[in-house]
Amino acid sequence: MTENFTGSKISIVIPCYNEEGNVELLYKKIKESLPGYAIEFIFVDDNSNDNTLNILEVLSVKDQNVKFLSFSRNFGHQSALRAGLEYSSGDCVISMDGDLQHPPELLQSMIEKWKEGYDIVYTVRKDIENVSGFKKFTASVFYNLINNLSDIEIKQGAADFRLLDKKIVRVLVDDITEYHLFFRGLISWIGYKQTFIEYIPHKRHSGTTKYSLSKMINFAIEGITSFSIRPLKLAILMGVTISFLSAIYGLYAVGMALFTDETLQGWASVLVSILFIGGINMILIGIVGEYIGKLYIQSKKRPYFLIKKTNV
Ligand code: UDP
Ligand code: MG
Repeated sequence: MTENFTGSKISIVIPCYNEEGNVELLYKKIKESLPGYAIEFIFVDDNSNDNTLNILEVLSVKDQNVKFLSFSRNFGHQSALRAGLEYSSGDCVISMDGDLQHPPELLQSMIEKWKEGYDIVYTVRKDIENVSGFKKFTASVFYNLINNLSDIEIKQGAADFRLLDKKIVRVLVDDITEYHLFFRGLISWIGYKQTFIEYIPHKRHSGTTKYSLSKMINFAIEGITSFSIRPLKLAILMGVTISFLSAIYGLYAVGMALFTDETLQGWASVLVSILFIGGINMILIGIVGEYIGKLYIQSKKRPYFLIKKTNV
């Protein structure tokens, strides 16, 4: 089957949180990278407190194809991505960061892959020399944890820079109703015909990273608990192991008392084991709580985002 791609419309979704120094240049670079294409820009302003929204409004007056959505508060990167998908109308949708770390020069080859018949073209960060050592370390811990603790497999370095065919966009928007969004995982879970392209990230053009350590830790917990209940099983395993070991130690202590003249003593070991078990208990309650919390939030069916201003 050969499809006709002439006249196809490409939507580009760009979440922006305080990216005033980047959006205009990014817009220009995307236009340069895709000459002759009908492009729909969807900038999602995640309630920036700098000049981002003003710049977007000006841009949208100059160019009819620039759409912007501005959130009523900071709803986070993943919600911004979802909003962009919801409001997109292209035959395929490409999501990319607003800081020029995702090279616009790659767009052309992503579209080529789509034309070859792939439904999802994701990208994998290759040489990360433009990324700080700390970011590399946390990213590697993140991917290892997620791949070992959850039921999905995400390629080391997979980014939120990807092309989706419009039918995938429909699936993500209409059929995925989970409140806690983790697109990298969903993309792995969803299947269809996928391929990937490797890329070397640029340095962030302007501004600083919007992912603090606490945001990253939260993101990792989201990712794991959204795709697996393996941590709950680990909790059972840990409980069984500790009970077993303490039973053996108990038998040993009773044996010593019955069959020898010595009795085991030492308040230090008692204290340490009480604290140890207490700590383990709290961690396990925390893990269970994480899942219950997810159920609680999901049951409220709150919207993913609220829009305070848009031109769509
Ligand atoms: N972002 C967002 N809301 C947030 C945090 C980030 O929309 O609460 C956007 C940000 O503007 C950027 C993208 O998500 O376009 C990725 O963020 P960033 O570049 O700070 O992350 P890093 O590249 O450091 O992982
Ligand atoms: Mg970045």
